[in-house]
Amino acid sequence: MLRALFSTIVGALILCLLVFAFGRPVLRMVDKGVNRVSTRSPATAPPEVARLHDRLFIADLHSDALLWDRDLLQRSDRGQVDIPRLRAGGVELQVFSMPTAFPLFANYRRSPAFPDIMAVAAIAHRWPHATWLDPTTRALQQASALHRLGDRVRLVTDARDLSTANRDSAVVRAILAVEGMHLRGGEIASVDAMFRAGVRVFGLAHMSDNAVAGSAHGWKKYGLTPFGRRVVAHIDSLDGIVDLAHASEKTIDDVLAIPNVKVMVSHTGVDGTCPGERNLSDDQLKTISAHGGVIGIGFWPGAVCGDDVAAIARAMRYAVNVAGIDAIALGSDFDGAVRTPFDAAGLVQLTAALLAEGFSEDEVARIMGLNALEFFERSLPAGKPNPGD
Ligand SMILES: [Zn+2]
Repeated sequence: MLRALFSTIVGALILCLLVFAFGRPVLRMVDKGVNRVSTRSPATAPPEVARLHDRLFIADLHSDALLWDRDLLQRSDRGQVDIPRLRAGGVELQVFSMPTAFPLFANYRRSPAFPDIMAVAAIAHRWPHATWLDPTTRALQQASALHRLGDRVRLVTDARDLSTANRDSAVVRAILAVEGMHLRGGEIASVDAMFRAGVRVFGLAHMSDNAVAGSAHGWKKYGLTPFGRRVVAHIDSLDGIVDLAHASEKTIDDVLAIPNVKVMVSHTGVDGTCPGERNLSDDQLKTISAHGGVIGIGFWPGAVCGDDVAAIARAMRYAVNVAGIDAIALGSDFDGAVRTPFDAAGLVQLTAALLAEGFSEDEVARIMGLNALEFFERSLPAGKPNPGD
């Protein structure tokens, strides 16, 4: 018995050491393997489309770029997002989401919460020891990676930071989001720690059920737990936003039954063009829109049941027909271990596809960014007035 325990401990230590020593090259290989662009078609468009695209305010509601071992200030041949590519694609506002736990046996239908491979990723990254076992610290670690990007990225923490008065073409504005409230020991103080680090969007669930809420992919898919209700009330008291992406049907119903909580769905598909566990029904689209929420349509096959840009535009057309033109936005899921038809630099292709889908230029402008901008203007904390205002 003792001998077995001893060998298990030694085995685990050797494994940790190997992951620590050789993990980073493996992480880069994984990054290259899972964050793929399916067609290397050029990011060009007819001149009149390119001119329209250049005039648009473009915002995307979900990218996991902070998770990977890349210098986001440099253009990379891996993944789908970095600052040069965001600027090349015209993106002025990007929500950077931070996953905190990920089950080894994750699948859309029913995922057990353990084992959690984010622990292995944290060791491979050589993140501080605290992140090996604590999901909240993993979010704080990724937030610090954003803070280190310097003045090419401006962190948006209140509505005043969104003022378009001082638009600077070299700067990307960033909103921090957490993907999965896997709070340690039910600590509500973790919400405060994340808020202090700049997090304004709180995704309750990710690939597995947690102590706060059930996931669309969870083992039990329950709704908000009693602790989850306290967490949502606390997020609301801080003027934070609840993200319902990945949430179970019951969780979505439970949150929408709470008056005045600000909600969004950062990355999703719609059942109308792509039935699936994590995609929204017509009723959910209508209710979230009526609640004032914005809904980001994803770019990957699991969201739109296709791997070309026309499938994304089709899903957006369907969603607009059901939820209204003011509710729909971009929810790429770039760098979220998904294959997409283009990377951030190629977003002009979506502008072209939306026009081909029959949207007017004003409608394209709303979907490509104005809806997201206006949602955050009305949802983020108002911010303190500058002296002299
Ligand atoms: Zn996701």
